[in-house]
Amino acid sequence: MARNLGPVCRLCRREGLKLFLKGERCFSDKCAIERRNYPPGAHGQARTRFSEFAIRLREKQKVKRIYGLLEKQFAHYFELAERMPGITGENLLMLLERRLDNVVYKLGFASSLAQGRQLVRHGFFEVNGKVVTIPSYLVEVGDVISIGEKSRQKKVIVEAIEMAQRRGVPAWMALEREQFRGTFKALPARADLTMPISEKLIVEHYSR
Ligand code: SF4
Repeated sequence: MARNLGPVCRLCRREGLKLFLKGERCFSDKCAIERRNYPPGAHGQARTRFSEFAIRLREKQKVKRIYGLLEKQFAHYFELAERMPGITGENLLMLLERRLDNVVYKLGFASSLAQGRQLVRHGFFEVNGKVVTIPSYLVEVGDVISIGEKSRQKKVIVEAIEMAQRRGVPAWMALEREQFRGTFKALPARADLTMPISEKLIVEHYSR
């Protein structure tokens, strides 16, 4: 599957925000945002006035990057969200939160979302006892996500779990660290998602 292979810290600098795309490094003073919090490129430090269009576009790009998606994938989620009952912007965020790569990352079974995606593809995780290798798999409320028995002692997993203890687990998931499993207890309430996201701007962007 296609993915963004460019330098990821540039994405954070472009959005002017920590997107936490690089695991441990994001929590250290090596973080590019800590060092150079201005957009990349020759004119990065120039003052820029954003048009309404640019503001909406940036918001869409930001969320797309947080969840590590390409344009087409993101547009697909937006279409799904539009067809669901309720508020489109919130539906969109809930769909993205349910992706398996996001869930394993948030449970602390991977040190970044990108690593979570890779480990899912390599068959490290089970959902309700069955191996799932599709990062976009949508986890349902009540699903139990576990690390496969053979993968539990792998260095990458041990390190990720150790590192994640500092991050904590979101309130809508329950982690049983000793059992190497976690439950997706409920959909998060909108207020639970603390990244500064204005989904309304994304809806406006697609409604142009
Ligand atoms: Fe973003 Fe992490 Fe890079 Fe900092 S270290 S700029 S948070 S990806």
